[in-house]
Amino acid sequence: MNEGKVWDILIIGGGPAGLAAALYAARALRSTIVLESQMLPGGQIQTTGDVEDYPGIIHTTGPELSIMMQTHAEHFGAKIEFGEEVTAVDLAPTIKTVQTKSVYGDEHTYKSKTVIVATGAAPRTLGVPGEDLLRGKGVSYCAVCDGPFFRDRHVAVAGGGDAAFDEGLYLTKYASRVTIIHRRDAFRAQKLLVDRATKNPKVDFIMDTVIDRINGEKALESIDIRNVNTGATERLELGGLFVYIGSDPNTSIFNSCIGVDRLGFIDADENMAAADCDGVFVAGDVRRSPLKQVVTAGADGSIAALTADKYLDLLEAGDTPDEAEAIATSKLTWKTEY
Ligand code: NAP
Repeated sequence: MNEGKVWDILIIGGGPAGLAAALYAARALRSTIVLESQMLPGGQIQTTGDVEDYPGIIHTTGPELSIMMQTHAEHFGAKIEFGEEVTAVDLAPTIKTVQTKSVYGDEHTYKSKTVIVATGAAPRTLGVPGEDLLRGKGVSYCAVCDGPFFRDRHVAVAGGGDAAFDEGLYLTKYASRVTIIHRRDAFRAQKLLVDRATKNPKVDFIMDTVIDRINGEKALESIDIRNVNTGATERLELGGLFVYIGSDPNTSIFNSCIGVDRLGFIDADENMAAADCDGVFVAGDVRRSPLKQVVTAGADGSIAALTADKYLDLLEAGDTPDEAEAIATSKLTWKTEY
């Protein structure tokens, strides 16, 4: 646990952004700790089926890639604490304090000179009647975890983005039929995924349609859907419903200097520095950014770690946190330039 120790770089979140930051921070010889609330690494990719767009790896699975990233960060000396949920943070300019509650119920305090926020995002829910009641009883947010329970059943996927298509295609391994239900007449997902789904005989689509209600008592039995153009309603009998309608950033623990946009994503500059917080950096899906991929999360993490390293160099050279922040983030310079 190392309570009392002041770390150089403390990373909140053990997904691709946090683990990439840990790798770069530890490799820069900074004492580095990652606090991950789950008992496994990877964040959202831990529950992702196939990954085939990470450069250099034609195909892997989310869980496999997560373990590779954990091993890589630990190889360079990063410490990763699992099951440590951050409950409060004090981002004072000098020493930052992070409080956690572990899965075993005990509370811990960590101290660090810098913090990298890589808390990611959490799946959005539909917010319709029946969803809470039937969560885990036919309503799922994780095809990898729950897909095998729906062997030879008809399932639906709500959403029209990459995740709905990726996970819908993954579900065709098990389900007899996968119906993608989307609220518009055009998909947000990449064309390659849409093409692949269109060609898959197990996949069909219901467009311009929203889900109004999820029915069932002990298990999901059907959903009530409504065409948004005609108002026509229909009851669709189903074995399962997988909800992939995007995600919301995990920022509720930050109430101090961190600025968020209207959707709650953290604003950071190209050096991954959080506005107005000295020594606080941001990486991955929690950051306001145009593209949320494993590769961009990793890139964010690497930049955040190297900016933090540079900030620490400047503190060690005698600059104040304010000066160090200003110099470290004035432009992205390579270490050899200063
Ligand atoms: P997303 O791209 O934001 O798509 C969310 C989808 O859900 C959209 O089609 C949206 O409809 C729909 N939606 C949102 N709220 C809804 C509601 N209340 N009811 C019904 N439908 C709703 O989210 P995502 O698919 O989770 O992807 C998130 C990020 O991760 C994206 O940047 C994505 O590219 C990335 N990602 C990439 C991959 C990959 O490259 N293989 C895989 C997974 C995720 P509208 O289109 O009408 O807004």
